[in-house]
Amino acid sequence: MTTKPIHLIGVPMDCGKRRRGCLMGPDAYRTAGLSESLIDLGHTVTDTGNVQPGAFAPEAKDTHLHALNETVAWTRALQKSAEAAMADGLPIFMGGDHALSAGTVSGVAAHAAREGRPQFMLWLDAHTDFHTPGSTDSGNLHGTPVAYISGQKGFDAFPPLPAAVPEENICLLGLRSVDRAERAAIEKTGIHAHDMREIDEHGIARPLAAFLDRVAAAKGMLHVSLDVDFLDPDVAPAVGTTVPGGATVREAHLVMEMLYDSGLMTSLDLVELNPFLDTRGRTAKLMVDLAASALGRNIFDRVTRSYS
Ligand code: MG
Ligand code: MG
Repeated sequence: MTTKPIHLIGVPMDCGKRRRGCLMGPDAYRTAGLSESLIDLGHTVTDTGNVQPGAFAPEAKDTHLHALNETVAWTRALQKSAEAAMADGLPIFMGGDHALSAGTVSGVAAHAAREGRPQFMLWLDAHTDFHTPGSTDSGNLHGTPVAYISGQKGFDAFPPLPAAVPEENICLLGLRSVDRAERAAIEKTGIHAHDMREIDEHGIARPLAAFLDRVAAAKGMLHVSLDVDFLDPDVAPAVGTTVPGGATVREAHLVMEMLYDSGLMTSLDLVELNPFLDTRGRTAKLMVDLAASALGRNIFDRVTRSYS
């Protein structure tokens, strides 16, 4: 079990796409009892309040990118707060939309570089989020953080990366909405990408266990980024980008339980929760339960069997 104190960091970032609502995410996690659930498990938990972006210039009218300047300001602020939080704790970033990961992951990667340890990243998502500002048709920058974090070209407006996460240290799990161009782009990289068909055929434990073995062998630090749309919309409706055929409740808990057993997770994002679309808080509660599983909650104690 992690002995580091947990820092809950609110990130009411809502500019990574046009549909509003993720700014309410941090307070939905607070209302659903994230802090209390982790304290119950024996953790020391501090809610450090919400991060805010610094000042930013008015958005240009002639760009297809939505809220570029605001997103860049958030990225800069989050890089700083993520790097600082890593000094003495395990940060959980309560989003906010997925554009926030450009800041959180680059911040934790800067910390890992200073420690002389490799940074790894597990991306639990229906989408690859591997567009660049040049390739995105929608102009929604929540579809770009994996490209930024891994050091792809085209992010000149963003802060320079303190330390890119190497492609081969990135695992995308749960994919089911990837267009042909994105698939071709991912296949040219060293990124490990696992879609729902692979999970259906072989189970979710197999690709995850292989990835965790690599993290352990490299003595790496592991950032986990959990997008609500990793889950099936039947169980997690509170997200603006629902895609049918997602992870079940048990598949998601298994991922979290394996992460806890591995002892490898050093930081966590909870992203894309849009409480405006939720049904009586059920998605917020499920995300809180998943975070608790990643930090030590068991559904059942396992009885050790003897075969002798
Ligand atoms: Mg995403
Ligand atoms: Mg997604």
